[in-house]
Amino acid sequence: MASFLRILIFLLIVQQLNSQHQYPSLQYYLPDIPYDENIPTPEQYFGFQVGEWHLSQEKVQTYFEKLATKSDKIELVAYGTTHENRTLFVAMISSEKHLKNKKEIQTYHQDLSLGKGEVNLSMPAILYQGYSIHGNELSGMHASVLAAYYLVAGQSQEVESILDHVFVLMDPCLNPDGTQRFSTWVNSFKSNQPVTDVQSSEFSESWPGGRYNHYWSDMNRDWLLLVHPESRGRIRFLQEWNPTVLTDHHEMGTNNTFFFQPGVPEQNNPNTPKNNFLLTEEIGKYYARAFDSIGSLYYTKYNFDDYYYGKGSTYSDAIGAIGILLEQGSSRGHAQNSIRGIITFPYTIKNQVSTSLATYRSIVDLKPSLLNYRKNFLKEVYKQLDGQKIKGYIFTDTDDVKRNRFLKLLFQHGVEVYGLDKDKTIENHFFPKGKSYIVPLKQNKPLIAKTMFEDVTSFSDSSFYDISGWTLSRAYGLTVKSLSETEVEKQIKTIEIPEMAGEVVHYSEKVYAWIIPSDQWEVHKALCRLLQEDIRVQVSFMDIAYETSGKKAVFPKGSLVITVFNQKHSVEYIAEKMEELANKFSLMIHALDSGNGTSTQTLGHPEIKPLQKPEVGILTGNGLSPTSAGEIWFHTDKELQIPATLLDIQKWGNFRLDKYNTLVFPSGNYGDMSESDVNKLRDWIKQGNTLIAFGNAAKFLSGQKILTLKTKTTTDSGKKSGIYGSFDKDNAGKSINGAIFSIDIDISHPVFFGFEQGISYSMKTDTLLYQPTSNVYASPAKYSQNYHISGFHPGHLKTSIPGSAAVTVHGYGNGRIICFLDPFLFRNYWLAGQKAFNNALFYGKTISTGTLEKGQEE
Ligand SMILES: [Zn+2]
Repeated sequence: MASFLRILIFLLIVQQLNSQHQYPSLQYYLPDIPYDENIPTPEQYFGFQVGEWHLSQEKVQTYFEKLATKSDKIELVAYGTTHENRTLFVAMISSEKHLKNKKEIQTYHQDLSLGKGEVNLSMPAILYQGYSIHGNELSGMHASVLAAYYLVAGQSQEVESILDHVFVLMDPCLNPDGTQRFSTWVNSFKSNQPVTDVQSSEFSESWPGGRYNHYWSDMNRDWLLLVHPESRGRIRFLQEWNPTVLTDHHEMGTNNTFFFQPGVPEQNNPNTPKNNFLLTEEIGKYYARAFDSIGSLYYTKYNFDDYYYGKGSTYSDAIGAIGILLEQGSSRGHAQNSIRGIITFPYTIKNQVSTSLATYRSIVDLKPSLLNYRKNFLKEVYKQLDGQKIKGYIFTDTDDVKRNRFLKLLFQHGVEVYGLDKDKTIENHFFPKGKSYIVPLKQNKPLIAKTMFEDVTSFSDSSFYDISGWTLSRAYGLTVKSLSETEVEKQIKTIEIPEMAGEVVHYSEKVYAWIIPSDQWEVHKALCRLLQEDIRVQVSFMDIAYETSGKKAVFPKGSLVITVFNQKHSVEYIAEKMEELANKFSLMIHALDSGNGTSTQTLGHPEIKPLQKPEVGILTGNGLSPTSAGEIWFHTDKELQIPATLLDIQKWGNFRLDKYNTLVFPSGNYGDMSESDVNKLRDWIKQGNTLIAFGNAAKFLSGQKILTLKTKTTTDSGKKSGIYGSFDKDNAGKSINGAIFSIDIDISHPVFFGFEQGISYSMKTDTLLYQPTSNVYASPAKYSQNYHISGFHPGHLKTSIPGSAAVTVHGYGNGRIICFLDPFLFRNYWLAGQKAFNNALFYGKTISTGTLEKGQEE
């Protein structure tokens, strides 16, 4: 026993020495002040110092829970659940007094954000600190643990002053699912001896990496789109609290130092009031001082912009807070070599702690100006709006589901919406009462309202960190008109989503067939359910004019036809299913009593073609774009709710492809496909299967001569100075990071069945332009003559864009290949593209042979 104890003591000493040798003390991170001994330090709680191992989100959560049981200066509030069922929570940290009065504080800031009430300096400012929205940028999350300990346990005048002036809403981990993947990865590959070699597995995560959420979506692009539960919960929470300042802690490449906003001055969103930039600059001085005192390197006003309102630090600017982006050069593991020597994980955490504490200090000092800015925010924005012609927007859509979905998005952002008291017609566009809404810009959320509808085509700068055009009303494919002062009416405030009802319309007591018209948004969801039930469904390649028992109807191309003929199920069973689908998806379904439309359009016509249930595989893995693959996965899994197998490209050789009749290739680099892999793909397509290819996947297939796609050469004749120092300037503005182009679509083509107009919108994210196919029927979508809707694109492409192909359809053996050359499922908010993808998925196989572009070799 005695020797066991000796060994134990020896081990403990060794461990302590090790930890002292490799891992810093608490004082490395935090000011050397007295700390409340009743509050466990992170090291006491976890059993190791912060930075020694990567914490999982769950561990972080339990530490915060511990703090909340030990102190009255902290309370936790859950605001949502991730796709993988992890808890999203915020720690409210302030003085005991403020926490007791939190309702009053909330109301005060609600009023202040509406310009009501006076600046009251006895009220704390509200700071929302968001950490590590990218799951493989975890110095932020680890810093939050230390910052929370500092605030809760620290016993100094400064801590007291912070708790008195600042009501902290600390969100330690904005992306728990991605965090889980990354923390597990780096811990799994951590050696006992520090290995800093950049080639170590520790620093190269397996695909898709921890940056993204469960569906491989970039959560820091979703603030405006609200596709994912993480964003929806957060925006709901922020609306309750109206933060004064919002910080967004990230990491960037290992060889970089530390960046804090403001970003490039010319790349600020012009809608954000100027004082926002000035206050950001003032807060930045506190970061600079903090880094000066510890000798860390930093930069500002360079590289990063503040333009796209779908990013955290910019979204917050649009709702009246001062949003600040912070970026630390990443160790991406526990310690890694960089061009400036070894970067350790603790060092990166220390910088994030320093900026967190500097944010507190800045707010204590700048509180009067910050609260003043909050109070005057609406006034400032209204002043800008006074000088502009557009005062609001009116929108409608013939589809109830789609229109209501947009309305819901507006409500989620707190945007004020008004209904019409009578029908309106503006420039030949009809806006029916009950199905049209007015969004005035002078309202509580003016900049969010504006950015939902505003097309931007002129820019003061030509470089963008993310997309330069994102107009949500275009993405939803809505009918929109801008309104002048006299046209904006605020009559019927709309606060609820109108109820929707589907119906099965009977033509007589007898049923011969059901028709689900294609001009309804949820038609494919109904189709999925029918095929899953093994009910025979056909799709009509012609418009069907129908007249019986005195009732008339025209069913457009792409309408689904379900006849009672040769079904496995009884008529009663299918009838019940139809009622169920009509209700569930708010669909109008027609129950016809005869197969006879007009004289030629009978329901046994050869142009009404049987459909097959798609057995879908989605290619994933090394080289492929995780976001492109994730968009496809999310769409099939969450929107359509059909099973799709994720197939790792590196195991392609082992797969039995006969299990699938439809494969979807995301955009990306297909360099991992060997010659024999490609041959396997050739055989599979030739057998009559359907391949859907996005972006670069199409280019790869063309390179393999499976299909023919010719790029347009678009040489830039722009002046090149030849001056070394002008290189960046000469090459600025040569890319398309995300701009919206209009496309002319062939609505008689199966890929565009159910579209009502010959025009739609596409998000273009690269400068590659393709010639239309030589078979003139095989390019059903081309950029319009007046293609430019919103966002920046280089001038030298202007003449080449019109007429270039956006969608092409190819034949290979008995198979079909449908190429979406742009990301038609972009960030899963691009509803205009979703329907085309669904059409390709379900009707691809039925596209007529003569209309296909033939491959280069067969
Ligand atoms: Zn990031």
